[in-house]
Amino acid sequence: MFSRLDHPPVAYEDYRPLLDSKLADELATVAGEMGQLRVLHLNSTATGGGVAEILQSMVPLGNSLGIETERIVINPDAAKFFDVTKKIHNMLQGSEGELSSAELDIYFSCIQRVANDMRAKGLEADVWFVHDPQLLPLARLLPKKEGETWIWICHIDLTTPNKSVLDALMPLTQDYDQLIFSQSAYVPKDLGDKVPVLIAPPAIDPLTSKNTAMDLPQARKIVAAMGIDTARPLVTQVSRFDLWKDPWGVIDAYRIARESVPGLQLALLGLSQATDDPEGAKVFQTVVDHAAGDPDIHLYFDPAEMPVSVDEVVNAVQMASAVLIQKSTREGFGLTVTEAMWKGKPVIGGDASGIRVQINDGVTGFLVSSPEQCAQRLVELLQDDALSARIGVAAKESVRQRFLLPRLALDYLRVARAQVNGRIPAVSDD
Ligand code: UDP
Repeated sequence: MFSRLDHPPVAYEDYRPLLDSKLADELATVAGEMGQLRVLHLNSTATGGGVAEILQSMVPLGNSLGIETERIVINPDAAKFFDVTKKIHNMLQGSEGELSSAELDIYFSCIQRVANDMRAKGLEADVWFVHDPQLLPLARLLPKKEGETWIWICHIDLTTPNKSVLDALMPLTQDYDQLIFSQSAYVPKDLGDKVPVLIAPPAIDPLTSKNTAMDLPQARKIVAAMGIDTARPLVTQVSRFDLWKDPWGVIDAYRIARESVPGLQLALLGLSQATDDPEGAKVFQTVVDHAAGDPDIHLYFDPAEMPVSVDEVVNAVQMASAVLIQKSTREGFGLTVTEAMWKGKPVIGGDASGIRVQINDGVTGFLVSSPEQCAQRLVELLQDDALSARIGVAAKESVRQRFLLPRLALDYLRVARAQVNGRIPAVSDD
């Protein structure tokens, strides 16, 4: 009911040239002090979505820092588990409705069986990093052993949660030693002060095949193989097909912008990989309908149809696009924004909390609240290469300073060390 995942090793030294020396040295020091501890990261999908993306790099980075770090993915045995947890995810981000007692029963009983399996198989660690609401009940259902530290990390946008789901789930946070949210605005108001909170925004791995700069001819070759005309301008949103990512609004913005930029093409890349997101196919179908057969709207859902690996496709599409859009209405953080900024691309983001943290409007990208605004910024950027270049340079440096993986590793390890040493870390916002 759970699996261990292996990830190819990385070398910490390869990250150093990208880091400010203060951060690089502190990370090595903290890791050195934690060398004897065993660390586990647990989440609910092996691939697809931001958390899987972070963990596939965080785990090998931990090992390369000399800390025994493992990755566990749960495989719950009830088909409906991910329907329920997707509903929980949507409600935590603000959708209406209530969880029925049958749904709560599926949620708790699945995690109970996962917990029993972990106990039976002797899964052990000194520090447990449990990611996102899917696994939240684990600390209650697999009570911690003496000396263990349990940390729950919530990656989603909790600015306007549905109160009923918050009331049902937040008591479970009290079974942890430490909580981590991506922003202070996400910390639920009546969480209490028993369990300390750290604010740690996510980060990208600059060394993966997704994020290492691909040269333009190579990128163009790949997008051409995907049916895109490389002689005409391209704008793209890279995102799961999900309610909160507003793919329909992206199409509306493209249609308006195209009136001023003839020949404009749009790509929506949402290659379905997340086992914990059962809604993708349904949302995709509505987007197909909304695109209404426009041959210049390129929609991608099936990874099997891609000419190269998903990571290379994402890299190529980001590199070959003149502008990246991330028109989310809710966004816990939005790694796709970071990935595009790291490639020196101008990004137009929806004015959602996670994107606001990354984009300084007019300096490192643009924030928009409607398809019309999005279209206006698209036209400005497509018609002004100097503006695009200036924003791209500022965007890349901002990511280098704030949102590369070693900074997040340091946040996690600092807080784990403080817990292990019995100290309570302070809340900070960056
Ligand atoms: N992603 C991908 N292929 C796709 C669409 C998205 O690999 O077709 C990746 C994307 O590059 C990013 C992650 O999935 O690394 C999405 O993370 P984000 O934080 O933007 O959104 P989430 O899916 O977690 O809501």
